[in-house]
Amino acid sequence: MSFSHHSEKHYIQRTGWLRAAVLGANDGIISVTSLIMGMAASGASTQTLIITCVAGLISGASSMAAGEYISVRSQVDIEEADLHMEARELERNPHHELKELTQIYVMRGLTPELAHEVAVQLTANNALEAHARDEIGIHENTAANPLQAAGSSALAFSIGALFPMVSILISPEQHVETVVMVVGILSLAGLGALSSYFAGTSKLKGSLRVAIWGIIAMSFASLVGSLFHVSTF
Ligand SMILES: [Zn+2]
Repeated sequence: MSFSHHSEKHYIQRTGWLRAAVLGANDGIISVTSLIMGMAASGASTQTLIITCVAGLISGASSMAAGEYISVRSQVDIEEADLHMEARELERNPHHELKELTQIYVMRGLTPELAHEVAVQLTANNALEAHARDEIGIHENTAANPLQAAGSSALAFSIGALFPMVSILISPEQHVETVVMVVGILSLAGLGALSSYFAGTSKLKGSLRVAIWGIIAMSFASLVGSLFHVSTF
C-alpha cells in the first residue's frame, strides 16, 4: 500500500507549488513594472521600454530559477543525508531503532502493545520509509523536485512580467507610465486576492497588502528614474 494511491487532493500537496507560483508571479509584476516605471520616468521611448521589459523578464526568470534550484537542491541534500544516516542506524542498531519507532507511536497515543505491533509490522514492510516518515517527517509529499521548482518559478515570473509587457504594447505612447502603473497595481491586487483565496484568509487584506508594497516599489523606481531624465542630457 502506498500514499500515492490517495484519491482526494489535500491542501498540503498544493501549497508548495502554489506558494512558489504566487511569489514568482508577484516578483515578475513588481520588479519588471518597477523597472519600466523607472525607465519611463527617465523619458525612454516605447521601443526602449519593450527591450527593457524583455531583458527584465529573461534576467528575472533566470535568477528566480537559479535561486529556487539551489534552495530546493540543498533541502533535498539535507533530506538525503538524513535518510543515509537513518539507513546506517537501522543496519547497525535495529533493536534500538525498533524501540525508537515504538516510542514515537506511544507518544502519538497508541498503547505500548499496539505501538510495538505497529512498529514491528512497519519495520518488516519498509523500515527506512517508516523512520523517514514518522521520525524525520520526510515522505513523498514533502520531497521536492529542484528542476520542477526552478521551472515553475521561472514560468511564474515570466507570466507576471507579461502584465507590464502587454501594458506597453496596448498603451498610447504618451500614457505608457500611467497604464503600466495601473495594470501593475490591479494585477498585484488580483494576485493578492487569489493567494488569500487559496490560503483561506481575507481577500481584501491580501490584495491590499500586496498592492501597497507594489506601489511603494514602483514609486521608488519612478522617483529614481526621474532623477536621470534622458531629455536633460
Ligand atoms: Zn530511527
